[in-house]
Amino acid sequence: MFFRRAREDRAFREAQRAGYELLLRLQATQPWPDCPEPTPQDPAAEEVAVPDFLPPELRLPSRQEVAGVMMRWQQPLVIDGEIRTCPECGAYRDWIVFCMRNNSIWLRCRAGHETGEPGLDAAWFNRHSGPVDRFHPTLEEGLRHLGH
Ligand SMILES: [Zn+2]
Repeated sequence: MFFRRAREDRAFREAQRAGYELLLRLQATQPWPDCPEPTPQDPAAEEVAVPDFLPPELRLPSRQEVAGVMMRWQQPLVIDGEIRTCPECGAYRDWIVFCMRNNSIWLRCRAGHETGEPGLDAAWFNRHSGPVDRFHPTLEEGLRHLGH
């Protein structure tokens, strides 16, 4: 009687363990319904007009939240009485002017050469640029929008 009872107990424990192992395998292979796989962001979603009940990543970010702001500057850029030219190709007009988050100013010529411009600062940029009205998820998109 004692032996038979013990064997039954062991069989029960083994069945329990097998069931537990099966559960672990299920956990490992099947996604839980309450923590779904992250769905990849639809890049097109960021370009639509955005009322502010949308999640933060779809709203127009503030200047602190973006890598930088940019504007097109078509006329020659005169700094301290000198016309700036691109050190690589000599272009002197039709710039894209960037104001980065660290307040540094960069110039990008039509040919895509980028040069830091220590003679300008964020205050200058803010005086000359309009309010930020558009968010571009990538630099390329921003450049396209500005005609470069
Ligand atoms: Zn250039």
